[in-house]
Amino acid sequence: MSHVMNTYARLPVTFSHGKGCRLYDTEGKEYLDALSGIAVSTLGHAHPKLVKAIADQAGRMLHVSNLYRIAEQEQLADKLCALSGMQEVFFSNSGAEANEAAIKLARFYGHKKGIDLPTVIVMEKAFHGRTMATVSATANRKAQAGFEPLLSGFVRVPFGDLAAIQAVAEENKNVVAVMFEIIQGEGGIHLVDPAFYRGVRELCDAQGWLMMCDEVQCGMGRTGKWFGYQTAGVQPDVATLAKGLGSGVPIGACMVGGKAAGLFGPGNHGSTFGGNPLVSTAALTTLAVMEEEGLLDNAARIGALIRQEFATALAGQAGVVDIRGHGLMIGIELDRPCGELVGKALAEGLLINVTADTVVRFLPPLIFSEKEARELVDRVAPLIKAFLAG
Ligand SMILES: *Cc1c(COP(=O)(O)O)cnc(C)c1O
Repeated sequence: MSHVMNTYARLPVTFSHGKGCRLYDTEGKEYLDALSGIAVSTLGHAHPKLVKAIADQAGRMLHVSNLYRIAEQEQLADKLCALSGMQEVFFSNSGAEANEAAIKLARFYGHKKGIDLPTVIVMEKAFHGRTMATVSATANRKAQAGFEPLLSGFVRVPFGDLAAIQAVAEENKNVVAVMFEIIQGEGGIHLVDPAFYRGVRELCDAQGWLMMCDEVQCGMGRTGKWFGYQTAGVQPDVATLAKGLGSGVPIGACMVGGKAAGLFGPGNHGSTFGGNPLVSTAALTTLAVMEEEGLLDNAARIGALIRQEFATALAGQAGVVDIRGHGLMIGIELDRPCGELVGKALAEGLLINVTADTVVRFLPPLIFSEKEARELVDRVAPLIKAFLAG
């Protein structure tokens, strides 16, 4: 028995190394990686530029405290602000911590306005993390059960339902922010009409609320734009990142602009590791390689190809409810729980995922090639068909 705490139902495989979009297990078997460690490995595995940048940085210094100025962190904040239209960045070590910072910021914003019991509007099917605040904001009962009392100060509405948010505005004068994923990831790859995002922006402006986008999964180029909100044509006040930001090195970010900027001062928030020289270098290099290799265009093009090829391969197939997504964030919803597909794919040397019980999910590295895209569809479509027939 492993001494690792049993918090994941782990598949019976151990990887030893990877290259590009392939991973190899300890027996030498090869796998096509269409999951990226859940949207993390932006540049695939062992990208030579990232390997070198991390090694060089390790040879200079890994860590100094945020008690000092950190040049790599400042450069990364500049770059992220230039890409995102934001003004300030707080660096964390994970998505949950980035969202934790956003939630604290929203409460702080409320208190400054004289709202003593600030409330954040969150969505059904949302996932924001596993810390007490973020699990309270998450809509998954399984993630919350046994951890009560949850944090108060959240009200939940159906994702995409602007009228429901307007109704909350009328009865609850403590609202300070609306927090949501532009594309819900864990909840099952859900997108809504872009009118919703614009409507939330207008409502936030009218009410003086913060619009907060959790971009931990849909950000970092995965949709074909740097950030998911850019596909929707809106500019939030707060956007959080993690997962793909360091291409495998743990780093998160809470980016703020507009009325969310300038709120926190020394002592209001912090992190020992957040934005240290190593992780900041990894993120800066990830962004640079994304630009050099045109990975935003690649994500848009290859994502569209995968959806289109699946639509062709699964045309008329009973049991397929929907094929959807944006860029390289793709879900195939089936009419029944399909978790067993993950193990069947693994046996075939394919790393895929199932979320929300019935949605086969693909989150390939942004370097995924056309050849790999066709291979993925050619190998996964028969598995789905056999599963639905069986
Ligand atoms: C994964 C995820 C998180 C949590 O990130 P961690 O790094 O696991 O804490 C938060 N929000 C979204 C949208 C995510 O997909």
